[in-house]
Amino acid sequence: MTAPTKVDTAARQKIACNACPVLCQISDGRTGACDRYANREGMLVRLDPVLMLRRELSKDEPALVPFLAREAHETVAEQTSASELMTGDDVFITGVGSSTTYPDYKPAPFIVTSKVAGVDTVTVVTEGIFSYCSLKVKIDTDRFLGPEQAPVRCKGEVVGHVTTAEYGSQMLSLGGVHHLTGGSKKEGRITVEMMMALGNKQAVTLSIEGGSEVLIQAGRAPVVNGVEEKRMRVGCGSATVGIFAEQLLGKADEVVVVDDHITGVLTEHQAGRCLDMRPSGIRMHGRKSTPGRYFQVANPGTGWGGTDIADPLSIIEGWDAKVAWPGLRLLMTSTTGEHASWYVLDEALRPVEQEMPSEVRAVVDRVGENCEPALTTVLFLAGAGGSLRAGVTENPVLLTRAIKSALVNVTCGGAPAYVWPGGGITVMVDVMRMPDNSFGTVPTPAIIAPIEFSMKLDDYRALGGHMDYVRTLEDALQRGAWHSEGAPLARQWLQAPANNPWPLGQPPMLG
Ligand code: SF4
Repeated sequence: MTAPTKVDTAARQKIACNACPVLCQISDGRTGACDRYANREGMLVRLDPVLMLRRELSKDEPALVPFLAREAHETVAEQTSASELMTGDDVFITGVGSSTTYPDYKPAPFIVTSKVAGVDTVTVVTEGIFSYCSLKVKIDTDRFLGPEQAPVRCKGEVVGHVTTAEYGSQMLSLGGVHHLTGGSKKEGRITVEMMMALGNKQAVTLSIEGGSEVLIQAGRAPVVNGVEEKRMRVGCGSATVGIFAEQLLGKADEVVVVDDHITGVLTEHQAGRCLDMRPSGIRMHGRKSTPGRYFQVANPGTGWGGTDIADPLSIIEGWDAKVAWPGLRLLMTSTTGEHASWYVLDEALRPVEQEMPSEVRAVVDRVGENCEPALTTVLFLAGAGGSLRAGVTENPVLLTRAIKSALVNVTCGGAPAYVWPGGGITVMVDVMRMPDNSFGTVPTPAIIAPIEFSMKLDDYRALGGHMDYVRTLEDALQRGAWHSEGAPLARQWLQAPANNPWPLGQPPMLG
């Protein structure tokens, strides 16, 4: 007779979390599968604080403040006096830690009105749950990471692919709905963990089929096959020849800038012709594109200029004996100046390596000086789905249209987000501009990321916003999210990053 009672008791102690489709049943004192929500004495709570940006954060201000709904009365007076003077000119509530309303139709947890430069505004704040999301990663290196379209693996699972290289950078496309939900459970789990780590500015090691192993971290230099990349090339071989031609005139008779993309040969190049340089008679391997510009002088690799060569002379086919001359001075350099050698032709027109003259070394150093530090850049790209939009308005297409009409400023954790043209709300944001640890996961699997929509109060009303849920900034600062269940426990102040525009200072609010 006692067993059913126990079951009943256990059932009473569990509460359902409805903040994602997993719908965890959480026992008292335990957390749900994502560790973001917990059962505290029968109440569902969001464990992380809501991050709030301050334009000027005083050192004396406590960084972490409990919301009124959770705390004793004594703190109320302090909180009220502290928040009374705050406006949207000073304070911005980010989606980080704000909790979510997915997968149902509830209004967003924070729909907050405040004055910005005297204008009534609204910011709709939520943590989005994104299945359609990916990372676009730019890795400043010429070194060969892998063939275009090659699968990229993390812990043995395919989590993305090599995509089109850009100027001086190799590009990866990581994550995405097919790896999150279209493959095995393990592939989805490792993909979402990899995305969260990179989004949260942590280091991740990836291996590329037919290519390299690369250690990447947003804002840091990439490490390719154990070697930290230092410099991003100044330009392709042709550009480098053009930039430094005048500085090399009279100091070298021929200059070859080795580059996996375009290897430049100065005397043939338009820059050399403009300077009336004497032809050297050099004959290059590879495919001549235009005068002084050669493709495919070697295979891609991690050697000179992103090729696989260690000996630069290997890309020279020979010399025209009628044109070249003994004593001809030849400089060979990579596009970063990291590799450079100096040769003089002997009587048999063979290049003999010699010590580089200091005035030539100075130009090679200038090539290096013009390179920028090699970095890894991680952009988060995601589509705001139907339920997220329903948290903003009863008629979601009006939100989409308002964004396209530039009436709404979209931010992610207060960082400016680029909204792609065309249908839907597809946003792209640099994770380095977002607060640390902005990203989370749920086991569906999907990524959790903050998103905020800011606009004039009148525009929010016009697009069918949840006007009954609009609250003042003061009220939001004291009480937290509007819904008691799942509401965050505390708020945390963060100094607004100086390199981001103030999220409520954008034209839709002020125009
Ligand atoms: S995974 Fe997290 S958000 Fe989803 S239901 Fe469980 S506790 Fe809630």
